Amino acid sequence: MARLQSFEALFGRPAAVVTDAPGRVNLIGEHTDYNGGYVLPTAIPQRTRVEAAPRSDGVVAVVTANVGRGTRASFRVGEEARRGAWLDYVQGIVTGFRALGAPLSGFDARIESTVPLGSGLSSSASLLVALARALRAMLAVPVDDVGIARLAHAAEHDFVGAPVGMMDPMAASLADERTALFLDTRTLAFERIPLPTEAELLVVDSRVAHNHASGDYRTRRAECERAAAALGVSALRDVDAAAERRIGALPAPLDRRARHVVTENARVLAAVEALRSGDMDRLGRLFDESHRSMRDDFEVSVPEVDALVASARAQPDVYGARLTGGGFGGSIVALVKRGRAAAVARAVVDAYGRTPGRRARVLVGGPSAS
Ligand code: ADP
Ligand code: MG
Repeated sequence: MARLQSFEALFGRPAAVVTDAPGRVNLIGEHTDYNGGYVLPTAIPQRTRVEAAPRSDGVVAVVTANVGRGTRASFRVGEEARRGAWLDYVQGIVTGFRALGAPLSGFDARIESTVPLGSGLSSSASLLVALARALRAMLAVPVDDVGIARLAHAAEHDFVGAPVGMMDPMAASLADERTALFLDTRTLAFERIPLPTEAELLVVDSRVAHNHASGDYRTRRAECERAAAALGVSALRDVDAAAERRIGALPAPLDRRARHVVTENARVLAAVEALRSGDMDRLGRLFDESHRSMRDDFEVSVPEVDALVASARAQPDVYGARLTGGGFGGSIVALVKRGRAAAVARAVVDAYGRTPGRRARVLVGGPSAS
């Protein structure tokens, strides 16, 4: 991350508002969100911070520390247009506030994030939610935290053009580090479930790049829609026992895709129960099953991520491990006996690095995590 000058040095006056929002790691419930199902993310320590101050000339000028060596860009309010670059996230949020009738006459903003970009920890939603919080504060718009998540989702889905679900914006807006956010992505009903004191989370990045807007992700979404249509339900979330018996008769790969979503949705409910009863062994087994389902049925893992999961699983203090996030690279999350994450992280990073060209990075829970 580039070192940026202070807001005052950049824009000639102090910031009027300072907001932030965390990145997230999803504990379980992957590719369930756009199927109307359940997810269970939690906030990570890394956050995106936004400082802002209003302008009166209709210009939005933004500096981010996280693109290149620090990048500045601007646009005029009312002239938002997709550019296929990071400024689209800012333009998307501005578009959303304008649609609410907010009195927007421009602003300056300084963005700085410790969430790694494009590693599956949702830097995009943390940026969007931090920006939306800044505009809410600056313009005194009466929108609640679920409303902030909706604005963030609309910005990414409609303006940026990434086919994302509600999990990431809801997590960035409503999750904290002490609890898991048990979220029904259809109704947006949520409950905060305390995380266990006897375990900690380890997140390790494979450093294989993913791109949510990529064709693979769209293909999976389309396959889920076709599977739901073939099963006669509006979304795979609605598969009941009778419809579940028909999954095996779907043409490949729709049978496997549907099986992942239906079993993964059930695993979220089981994971909530395991958390409530403090059953770490059960929670760990659910992590393991989730990974196998993503690898074999949903086919969104890659060999690098499988290797990280396998080496985490080989450690005695690990209850379970799985690919987290959309897949096609990205990070793993492991449930580790409290106090052991740093040691497990070292072992996992060492094992991964023994294959030439591979260098893992610890994002949460390890010695080098920030
Ligand atoms: P993830 O959300 O998993 O990190 P995405 O591909 O969804 O990955 O989002 C990453 C993109 O979001 C970046 O390429 C960039 O356009 C934008 N972004 C995220 N954080 C920042 C930031 N701090 N400054 C500028 N752009 C950002
Ligand atoms: Mg994202």
